[in-house]
Amino acid sequence: MIIELKQVFDIIGESFSFDYALDLSDYELFNDHPFTSPVNVKGEVSNKAGIVLLQYTADFTLKLHCDRCLEVFDRDFHFAFEQILVTELNTDNDEYFVVEDNRLNLDELCVSDILLNLPSKLLCKPDCKGLCPKCGVNLNQKSCLCKKNEVDPRLAVLSQLLVDDQD
Ligand SMILES: [Zn+2]
Ligand SMILES: [Zn+2]
Repeated sequence: MIIELKQVFDIIGESFSFDYALDLSDYELFNDHPFTSPVNVKGEVSNKAGIVLLQYTADFTLKLHCDRCLEVFDRDFHFAFEQILVTELNTDNDEYFVVEDNRLNLDELCVSDILLNLPSKLLCKPDCKGLCPKCGVNLNQKSCLCKKNEVDPRLAVLSQLLVDDQD
Protein backbone atom coordinates (compact mmCIF):
# COMPACT_ATOMS: atom_id res chain seq x y z
CA MET A 1 0.00 0.00 0.00
CA ILE A 2 1.28 3.46 -0.96
CA ILE A 3 0.01 6.25 1.26
CA GLU A 4 -0.21 9.80 -0.02
CA LEU A 5 0.90 11.97 2.90
CA LYS A 6 0.96 15.50 1.57
CA GLN A 7 -2.06 16.55 3.61
CA VAL A 8 -0.73 14.96 6.79
CA PHE A 9 2.61 16.72 6.40
CA ASP A 10 0.93 20.05 5.63
CA ILE A 11 -1.86 20.19 8.19
CA ILE A 12 -1.37 19.92 11.97
CA GLY A 13 -3.95 17.57 13.49
CA GLU A 14 -4.46 15.66 10.24
CA SER A 15 -4.26 11.86 10.31
CA PHE A 16 -4.63 8.85 8.06
CA SER A 17 -5.70 5.41 9.32
CA PHE A 18 -5.14 2.11 7.61
CA ASP A 19 -6.02 -1.52 8.23
CA TYR A 20 -5.18 -3.98 5.50
CA ALA A 21 -3.83 -7.42 4.68
CA LEU A 22 -0.36 -7.53 3.15
CA ASP A 23 0.16 -10.62 1.04
CA LEU A 24 3.77 -11.80 1.36
CA SER A 25 3.17 -15.37 0.21
CA ASP A 26 5.76 -14.91 -2.59
CA TYR A 27 8.31 -13.34 -0.25
CA GLU A 28 11.45 -15.44 0.10
CA LEU A 29 13.08 -15.71 3.50
CA PHE A 30 15.24 -18.43 5.09
CA ASN A 31 15.27 -20.23 1.68
CA ASP A 32 11.52 -20.66 1.92
CA HIS A 33 8.22 -18.77 1.62
CA PRO A 34 7.32 -18.59 5.31
CA PHE A 35 4.39 -16.10 5.12
CA THR A 36 1.62 -18.64 4.59
CA SER A 37 -1.13 -16.13 5.46
CA PRO A 38 -1.31 -12.34 4.93
CA VAL A 39 0.23 -9.91 7.41
CA ASN A 40 -2.41 -7.81 9.15
CA VAL A 41 -1.13 -4.20 9.09
CA LYS A 42 -3.04 -1.68 11.15
CA GLY A 43 -2.31 1.82 12.39
CA GLU A 44 -2.19 5.48 11.54
CA VAL A 45 -0.03 8.38 10.48
CA SER A 46 -0.78 11.58 12.34
CA ASN A 47 0.54 15.10 12.48
CA LYS A 48 0.88 16.05 16.12
CA ALA A 49 2.07 19.63 16.55
CA GLY A 50 4.04 19.43 13.33
CA ILE A 51 5.66 16.03 14.06
CA VAL A 52 4.42 13.31 11.73
CA LEU A 53 4.26 10.02 13.54
CA LEU A 54 3.58 6.59 12.07
CA GLN A 55 2.34 4.00 14.57
CA TYR A 56 1.23 0.57 13.49
CA THR A 57 1.04 -3.09 14.38
CA ALA A 58 1.84 -6.13 12.24
CA ASP A 59 0.27 -9.49 13.06
CA PHE A 60 1.25 -12.60 11.19
CA THR A 61 2.10 -16.28 11.35
CA LEU A 62 5.28 -17.78 9.95
CA LYS A 63 5.92 -21.36 8.93
CA LEU A 64 9.47 -21.94 10.12
CA HIS A 65 12.10 -24.63 10.39
CA CYS A 66 13.56 -25.05 13.85
CA ASP A 67 17.24 -24.05 13.91
CA ARG A 68 18.02 -26.97 16.20
CA CYS A 69 15.84 -29.95 15.26
CA LEU A 70 14.78 -28.80 11.71
CA GLU A 71 11.12 -29.60 12.38
CA VAL A 72 8.53 -27.34 10.72
CA PHE A 73 6.42 -25.28 13.09
CA ASP A 74 4.07 -22.26 13.00
CA ARG A 75 4.69 -19.19 15.12
CA ASP A 76 2.46 -16.15 15.65
CA PHE A 77 4.08 -12.74 15.82
CA HIS A 78 2.71 -9.43 17.01
CA PHE A 79 4.92 -6.40 16.46
CA ALA A 80 4.25 -2.75 17.21
CA PHE A 81 6.28 -0.14 15.33
CA GLU A 82 6.67 3.58 15.61
CA GLN A 83 8.53 5.94 13.29
CA ILE A 84 8.83 9.66 12.95
CA LEU A 85 8.39 10.57 9.29
CA VAL A 86 10.14 13.49 7.67
CA THR A 87 10.14 14.82 4.11
CA GLU A 88 13.87 15.40 4.09
CA LEU A 89 16.73 14.37 6.28
CA ASN A 90 18.52 16.99 8.32
CA THR A 91 21.93 16.41 9.83
CA ASP A 92 21.04 15.31 13.36
CA ASN A 93 17.93 13.19 12.87
CA ASP A 94 19.16 10.16 10.97
CA GLU A 95 16.84 7.81 12.90
CA TYR A 96 13.85 9.43 11.22
CA PHE A 97 12.29 7.85 8.18
CA VAL A 98 12.42 9.92 5.02
CA VAL A 99 9.30 9.94 2.86
CA GLU A 100 10.10 11.03 -0.66
CA ASP A 101 7.52 13.00 -2.67
CA ASN A 102 5.03 12.63 0.20
CA ARG A 103 4.43 9.02 -0.76
CA LEU A 104 5.07 6.31 1.80
CA ASN A 105 5.45 2.73 0.60
CA LEU A 106 4.06 1.09 3.71
CA ASP A 107 4.50 -2.46 2.39
CA GLU A 108 8.24 -1.99 1.98
CA LEU A 109 8.63 -0.30 5.33
CA CYS A 110 6.60 -3.02 7.04
CA VAL A 111 8.72 -5.81 5.52
CA SER A 112 11.96 -4.13 6.62
CA ASP A 113 10.58 -3.49 10.13
CA ILE A 114 9.57 -7.15 10.40
CA LEU A 115 12.96 -8.44 9.19
CA LEU A 116 14.82 -6.21 11.65
CA ASN A 117 12.75 -7.53 14.53
CA LEU A 118 12.64 -11.25 13.86
CA PRO A 119 14.74 -13.18 16.36
CA SER A 120 18.03 -14.45 14.92
CA LYS A 121 17.47 -17.90 16.37
CA LEU A 122 14.14 -19.57 15.74
CA LEU A 123 13.42 -22.64 17.83
CA CYS A 124 10.28 -24.80 17.84
CA LYS A 125 10.30 -24.42 21.63
CA PRO A 126 12.76 -22.75 24.03
CA ASP A 127 14.05 -26.07 25.36
CA CYS A 128 14.27 -27.89 22.01
CA LYS A 129 16.68 -30.79 22.47
CA GLY A 130 17.72 -30.78 18.81
CA LEU A 131 19.15 -33.69 16.87
CA CYS A 132 21.67 -36.21 18.16
CA PRO A 133 24.96 -35.24 16.50
CA LYS A 134 25.83 -38.95 16.13
CA CYS A 135 22.71 -40.75 14.89
CA GLY A 136 20.56 -37.75 13.85
CA VAL A 137 17.53 -38.79 15.89
CA ASN A 138 15.19 -35.94 16.92
CA LEU A 139 15.78 -35.94 20.67
CA ASN A 140 12.40 -34.24 21.31
CA GLN A 141 10.65 -37.35 20.00
CA LYS A 142 12.99 -40.19 20.86
CA SER A 143 16.02 -40.83 22.93
CA CYS A 144 19.00 -42.68 21.58
CA LEU A 145 21.78 -44.67 23.16
CA CYS A 146 24.66 -42.62 21.76
CA LYS A 147 25.13 -40.55 24.91
CA LYS A 148 24.77 -43.46 27.31
CA ASN A 149 27.39 -45.54 25.56
CA GLU A 150 29.85 -42.72 25.57
CA VAL A 151 31.54 -42.16 28.90
CA ASP A 152 32.22 -38.58 29.79
CA PRO A 153 36.03 -38.26 30.11
CA ARG A 154 35.64 -36.48 33.46
CA LEU A 155 33.57 -39.38 34.78
CA ALA A 156 36.14 -41.85 33.45
CA VAL A 157 38.82 -40.17 35.56
CA LEU A 158 36.49 -40.23 38.55
CA SER A 159 35.66 -43.92 38.19
CA GLN A 160 39.35 -44.64 37.86
CA LEU A 161 39.94 -42.83 41.15
CA LEU A 162 37.16 -44.82 42.79
CA VAL A 163 38.72 -48.07 41.58
CA ASP A 164 42.10 -46.98 42.96
CA ASP A 165 40.48 -46.18 46.29
CA GLN A 166 39.21 -49.71 46.69
CA ASP A 167 42.68 -51.22 46.59
ZN1 LIG B 1 13.28 -27.83 17.55
ZN1 LIG C 1 22.10 -40.69 18.89
